[in-house]
Amino acid sequence: MRLQKLILSCQLWIRGMSFHVRRKDREITDSNELKRVLQSTKFVTIALCMKNEPYLVSLSHGYDETGNCLYFHCADEGKKLVYLNANSKVWGQAVLDYSVIDECDYAYTSVHFKGTASIVDDLKEKQHAMNVMVRQLSAHPDEKLAKIMPDKLARTNIVRIDISYITGKKHQYPEERSENV
Ligand SMILES: Cc1cc2nc3c(=O)[nH]c(=O)nc-3n(C[C@H](O)[C@H](O)[C@H](O)COP(=O)(O)OP(=O)(O)OC[C@H]3O[C@@H](n4cnc5c(N)ncnc54)[C@H](O)[C@@H]3O)c2cc1C
Repeated sequence: MRLQKLILSCQLWIRGMSFHVRRKDREITDSNELKRVLQSTKFVTIALCMKNEPYLVSLSHGYDETGNCLYFHCADEGKKLVYLNANSKVWGQAVLDYSVIDECDYAYTSVHFKGTASIVDDLKEKQHAMNVMVRQLSAHPDEKLAKIMPDKLARTNIVRIDISYITGKKHQYPEERSENV
Protein backbone atom coordinates (compact mmCIF):
# COMPACT_ATOMS: atom_id res chain seq x y z
CA MET A 1 0.00 0.00 0.00
CA ARG A 2 2.79 2.37 0.99
CA LEU A 3 4.67 1.52 -2.19
CA GLN A 4 1.56 2.18 -4.31
CA LYS A 5 1.15 5.59 -2.65
CA LEU A 6 4.79 6.38 -3.27
CA ILE A 7 4.51 5.36 -6.94
CA LEU A 8 1.39 7.52 -7.33
CA SER A 9 3.13 10.50 -5.71
CA CYS A 10 6.10 10.04 -8.04
CA GLN A 11 3.82 9.81 -11.08
CA LEU A 12 2.06 13.04 -10.07
CA TRP A 13 5.37 14.77 -9.45
CA ILE A 14 6.76 13.63 -12.82
CA ARG A 15 3.59 14.76 -14.61
CA GLY A 16 3.70 18.11 -12.80
CA MET A 17 0.20 17.35 -11.41
CA SER A 18 -1.20 17.19 -14.91
CA PHE A 19 -3.97 14.65 -15.47
CA HIS A 20 -5.34 13.24 -18.70
CA VAL A 21 -8.18 10.89 -19.60
CA ARG A 22 -6.52 7.54 -18.92
CA ARG A 23 -8.76 5.53 -21.27
CA LYS A 24 -7.51 6.84 -24.62
CA ASP A 25 -10.08 4.67 -26.42
CA ARG A 26 -12.85 6.67 -24.69
CA GLU A 27 -11.33 10.13 -24.84
CA ILE A 28 -13.00 12.79 -26.99
CA THR A 29 -10.43 15.04 -28.63
CA ASP A 30 -12.49 16.65 -31.40
CA SER A 31 -13.27 20.18 -30.20
CA ASN A 32 -16.57 20.28 -32.12
CA GLU A 33 -17.72 17.14 -30.36
CA LEU A 34 -16.77 18.63 -27.00
CA LYS A 35 -18.72 21.80 -27.78
CA ARG A 36 -21.74 19.82 -28.94
CA VAL A 37 -22.07 18.32 -25.46
CA LEU A 38 -22.25 21.80 -23.90
CA GLN A 39 -24.69 22.91 -26.61
CA SER A 40 -27.05 19.93 -26.32
CA THR A 41 -27.24 19.43 -22.54
CA LYS A 42 -29.76 21.30 -20.44
CA PHE A 43 -27.67 21.74 -17.33
CA VAL A 44 -24.15 21.62 -15.97
CA THR A 45 -23.00 20.76 -12.47
CA ILE A 46 -20.25 22.96 -11.10
CA ALA A 47 -17.95 22.30 -8.19
CA LEU A 48 -16.92 25.23 -6.02
CA CYS A 49 -14.50 25.61 -3.14
CA MET A 50 -14.12 28.14 -0.34
CA LYS A 51 -11.73 27.87 2.60
CA ASN A 52 -11.14 24.20 1.83
CA GLU A 53 -14.90 23.47 1.94
CA PRO A 54 -16.46 21.96 -1.20
CA TYR A 55 -19.90 22.80 -2.64
CA LEU A 56 -21.69 22.05 -5.89
CA VAL A 57 -24.78 23.13 -7.78
CA SER A 58 -26.53 22.12 -10.98
CA LEU A 59 -27.48 25.00 -13.27
CA SER A 60 -29.49 25.31 -16.47
CA HIS A 61 -27.11 26.88 -18.92
CA GLY A 62 -26.59 28.23 -22.40
CA TYR A 63 -23.28 27.69 -24.18
CA ASP A 64 -21.89 30.51 -26.30
CA GLU A 65 -19.50 29.01 -28.84
CA THR A 66 -18.05 32.35 -29.98
CA GLY A 67 -17.07 33.38 -26.46
CA ASN A 68 -16.40 29.79 -25.34
CA CYS A 69 -18.40 30.52 -22.22
CA LEU A 70 -21.51 29.38 -20.36
CA TYR A 71 -24.26 31.58 -19.02
CA PHE A 72 -26.70 30.84 -16.22
CA HIS A 73 -29.12 32.96 -14.22
CA CYS A 74 -29.82 32.80 -10.52
CA ALA A 75 -31.03 34.69 -7.47
CA ASP A 76 -28.78 37.50 -6.30
CA GLU A 77 -28.00 35.77 -3.00
CA GLY A 78 -27.31 32.26 -1.72
CA LYS A 79 -24.48 29.92 -0.93
CA LYS A 80 -23.13 29.48 -4.47
CA LEU A 81 -22.71 33.26 -4.86
CA VAL A 82 -20.90 33.48 -1.52
CA TYR A 83 -18.58 30.73 -2.75
CA LEU A 84 -18.13 32.32 -6.21
CA ASN A 85 -17.34 35.70 -4.68
CA ALA A 86 -14.67 34.09 -2.50
CA ASN A 87 -13.24 31.93 -5.28
CA SER A 88 -14.36 32.38 -8.88
CA LYS A 89 -12.64 29.21 -10.15
CA VAL A 90 -15.00 26.34 -10.93
CA TRP A 91 -14.76 22.80 -12.22
CA GLY A 92 -17.82 21.60 -14.12
CA GLN A 93 -19.40 18.64 -15.81
CA ALA A 94 -22.10 18.13 -18.45
CA VAL A 95 -23.47 14.67 -19.24
CA LEU A 96 -25.40 13.09 -22.10
CA ASP A 97 -26.90 10.10 -20.33
CA TYR A 98 -27.71 7.02 -22.43
CA SER A 99 -28.44 4.77 -19.45
CA VAL A 100 -27.51 1.11 -19.02
CA ILE A 101 -26.49 -0.67 -22.22
CA ASP A 102 -25.36 -4.02 -20.89
CA GLU A 103 -25.56 -5.83 -17.61
CA CYS A 104 -22.91 -3.69 -15.99
CA ASP A 105 -22.14 -1.01 -18.57
CA TYR A 106 -23.42 2.52 -18.57
CA ALA A 107 -23.38 4.62 -21.74
CA TYR A 108 -22.61 8.31 -21.57
CA THR A 109 -20.81 11.18 -23.20
CA SER A 110 -19.50 13.77 -20.79
CA VAL A 111 -17.25 16.76 -20.62
CA HIS A 112 -15.33 18.26 -17.76
CA PHE A 113 -14.30 21.89 -17.87
CA LYS A 114 -12.39 24.42 -15.83
CA GLY A 115 -13.52 28.02 -15.81
CA THR A 116 -13.75 31.37 -14.10
CA ALA A 117 -17.10 32.82 -13.12
CA SER A 118 -18.05 36.48 -13.20
CA ILE A 119 -21.28 38.44 -12.80
CA VAL A 120 -22.59 40.03 -16.02
CA ASP A 121 -23.48 43.70 -15.47
CA ASP A 122 -23.73 45.02 -19.02
CA LEU A 123 -27.36 44.99 -20.27
CA LYS A 124 -26.32 44.18 -23.87
CA GLU A 125 -24.42 41.13 -22.68
CA LYS A 126 -27.36 40.14 -20.48
CA GLN A 127 -29.61 40.25 -23.57
CA HIS A 128 -27.09 38.14 -25.47
CA ALA A 129 -26.82 35.68 -22.55
CA MET A 130 -30.61 35.35 -22.27
CA ASN A 131 -30.82 34.75 -26.01
CA VAL A 132 -28.18 31.99 -25.76
CA MET A 133 -29.87 30.36 -22.74
CA VAL A 134 -33.44 30.50 -24.04
CA ARG A 135 -32.46 29.15 -27.48
CA GLN A 136 -30.71 26.21 -25.85
CA LEU A 137 -33.33 25.48 -23.19
CA SER A 138 -36.74 26.39 -24.55
CA ALA A 139 -38.89 24.55 -27.09
CA HIS A 140 -40.41 27.93 -28.14
CA PRO A 141 -37.53 30.40 -27.79
CA ASP A 142 -38.97 33.26 -29.86
CA GLU A 143 -42.16 33.39 -27.78
CA LYS A 144 -40.15 33.33 -24.56
CA LEU A 145 -37.68 35.98 -25.70
CA ALA A 146 -40.47 38.31 -26.84
CA LYS A 147 -41.85 38.34 -23.28
CA ILE A 148 -38.58 39.35 -21.60
CA MET A 149 -38.69 43.05 -20.73
CA PRO A 150 -35.41 45.02 -20.56
CA ASP A 151 -36.14 46.41 -17.07
CA LYS A 152 -36.75 42.91 -15.72
CA LEU A 153 -33.62 41.64 -17.46
CA ALA A 154 -31.60 44.47 -15.91
CA ARG A 155 -32.65 43.14 -12.48
CA THR A 156 -31.89 39.51 -13.38
CA ASN A 157 -28.65 38.10 -12.02
CA ILE A 158 -26.64 36.46 -14.79
CA VAL A 159 -23.27 34.73 -14.41
CA ARG A 160 -20.77 33.90 -17.14
CA ILE A 161 -18.25 31.07 -16.87
CA ASP A 162 -15.26 31.54 -19.18
CA ILE A 163 -13.94 28.10 -20.08
CA SER A 164 -10.18 27.69 -20.07
CA TYR A 165 -9.84 23.90 -20.26
CA ILE A 166 -12.08 21.07 -21.39
CA THR A 167 -11.85 17.30 -21.69
CA GLY A 168 -14.32 14.71 -22.93
CA LYS A 169 -14.99 11.05 -22.50
CA LYS A 170 -17.56 8.67 -23.91
CA HIS A 171 -18.62 5.15 -23.28
CA GLN A 172 -21.20 3.96 -25.75
CA TYR A 173 -21.86 2.09 -28.96
CA PRO A 174 -20.84 4.79 -31.46
CA GLU A 175 -22.80 3.38 -34.40
CA GLU A 176 -26.05 3.44 -32.39
CA ARG A 177 -25.53 6.67 -30.54
CA SER A 178 -23.67 8.92 -32.96
CA GLU A 179 -26.84 10.89 -33.83
CA ASN A 180 -27.10 12.01 -30.18
CA VAL A 181 -23.73 13.68 -29.87
C1 LIG B 1 -31.27 20.32 -13.26
C2 LIG B 1 -31.19 21.54 -12.39
C3 LIG B 1 -31.12 22.81 -12.96
C4 LIG B 1 -31.03 23.94 -12.16
N1 LIG B 1 -30.91 25.18 -12.74
C5 LIG B 1 -30.70 26.26 -11.97
C6 LIG B 1 -30.47 27.56 -12.55
O1 LIG B 1 -30.44 27.73 -13.76
N2 LIG B 1 -30.24 28.59 -11.72
C7 LIG B 1 -30.24 28.44 -10.35
O2 LIG B 1 -30.01 29.42 -9.64
N3 LIG B 1 -30.45 27.25 -9.78
C8 LIG B 1 -30.69 26.16 -10.55
N4 LIG B 1 -30.89 24.93 -9.97
C9 LIG B 1 -30.90 24.84 -8.50
C10 LIG B 1 -29.47 24.88 -7.99
O3 LIG B 1 -28.84 23.64 -8.18
C11 LIG B 1 -29.42 25.28 -6.50
O4 LIG B 1 -30.23 24.42 -5.76
C12 LIG B 1 -29.92 26.71 -6.31
O5 LIG B 1 -29.32 27.56 -7.25
C13 LIG B 1 -29.66 27.21 -4.91
O6 LIG B 1 -28.29 27.29 -4.72
P1 LIG B 1 -27.67 28.16 -3.51
O7 LIG B 1 -26.24 27.82 -3.41
O8 LIG B 1 -28.06 29.58 -3.68
O9 LIG B 1 -28.45 27.47 -2.32
P2 LIG B 1 -29.01 28.10 -0.96
O10 LIG B 1 -30.46 28.41 -1.18
O11 LIG B 1 -28.13 29.20 -0.46
O12 LIG B 1 -28.97 26.83 -0.03
C14 LIG B 1 -27.82 26.40 0.65
C15 LIG B 1 -27.99 24.98 1.18
O13 LIG B 1 -29.17 24.39 0.71
C16 LIG B 1 -28.94 23.09 0.23
N5 LIG B 1 -29.28 23.03 -1.21
C17 LIG B 1 -29.16 24.02 -2.13
N6 LIG B 1 -29.56 23.60 -3.34
C18 LIG B 1 -29.94 22.31 -3.18
C19 LIG B 1 -30.44 21.33 -4.07
N7 LIG B 1 -30.62 21.58 -5.40
N8 LIG B 1 -30.71 20.12 -3.58
C20 LIG B 1 -30.52 19.85 -2.28
N9 LIG B 1 -30.05 20.72 -1.40
C21 LIG B 1 -29.76 21.96 -1.83
C22 LIG B 1 -27.50 22.76 0.47
O14 LIG B 1 -27.40 21.96 1.64
C23 LIG B 1 -26.84 24.10 0.72
O15 LIG B 1 -25.84 24.01 1.69
C24 LIG B 1 -31.00 23.80 -10.75
C25 LIG B 1 -31.07 22.53 -10.18
C26 LIG B 1 -31.16 21.41 -10.97
C27 LIG B 1 -31.22 20.06 -10.32
